[in-house]
Amino acid sequence: EAMLRLSGVSKTYNQGRENEVQVLNGADLTLAEGEMVALVAPSGAGKSTLLHIAGLLDTPDTGTVEIGGVDYTGLGDRRRTVARRREVGFVYQFHHLLPEFTALENVVLPQLANGIQKDEAETRAADLLARVGVGGRAGHRPSAMSGGEQQRVAFCRALANAPRLLLADEPTGNLDPATSEQVFDTLVGLVRGTGLAALIATHNLELAARMDRVVRLDQGRVVAQ
Ligand code: ADP
Ligand code: ADP
Repeated sequence: EAMLRLSGVSKTYNQGRENEVQVLNGADLTLAEGEMVALVAPSGAGKSTLLHIAGLLDTPDTGTVEIGGVDYTGLGDRRRTVARRREVGFVYQFHHLLPEFTALENVVLPQLANGIQKDEAETRAADLLARVGVGGRAGHRPSAMSGGEQQRVAFCRALANAPRLLLADEPTGNLDPATSEQVFDTLVGLVRGTGLAALIATHNLELAARMDRVVRLDQGRVVAQ
């Protein structure tokens, strides 16, 4: 079963104005259950735009977005927001953890927002943190953690609601090369065996090569690398 299917997705910013820029032009991409795909392209090629559309944060001008077999094209903002919370986990280059909350709380909060009971949410959060090697940091705030630890917590937060799809935009782009490699492996280990599909934008071709498949953006279309 396809976890993500983008069909004929096009996106133009500033349509009709002099700074008009067509970023996506009939992009097609399908991710099967459990598949990990790297997205490589130069800066400005449209990776963030593609990830935002795939994650229901933005809408394409034309084309369709299906997650877990459900076509979200044309659904209202409320339906899309609910779906995004349940079905999609996001990771960015910078962790975006809430600074005034502990690691554990940062992983608990999205579950509470999704209607999970506090006890169950805390158990799942502690389990996720332990799996990525930061169990001992559960009571610490982000500012007391290293960059690699912060990103590990961000992965746990992204997976807190057991989404079908993980979207990551340069998840290790902010880390030194050695840490980057370790943290990337942690992410792969966390995703493998869950059935989750992952689309990971990265500039690091060595890390990209560890994925099941590498695709790139070429003139607004997704092509095999
Ligand atoms: P990447 O992630 O590959 O760097 P982006 O998707 O962020 O690429 O951007 C692709 C192009 O679209 C860039 O030229 C960028 O400046 C432009 N762009 C992105 N978002 C917007 C926006 N909201 N409004 C106008 N232009 C945008
Ligand atoms: P990234 O680090 O993912 O490439 P950017 O710094 O390109 O992110 O973009 C950050 C945000 O600003 C995104 O939400 C993107 O849509 C928006 N953005 C990027 N380029 C432009 C632009 N030229 N005009 C307006 N918004 C833009």
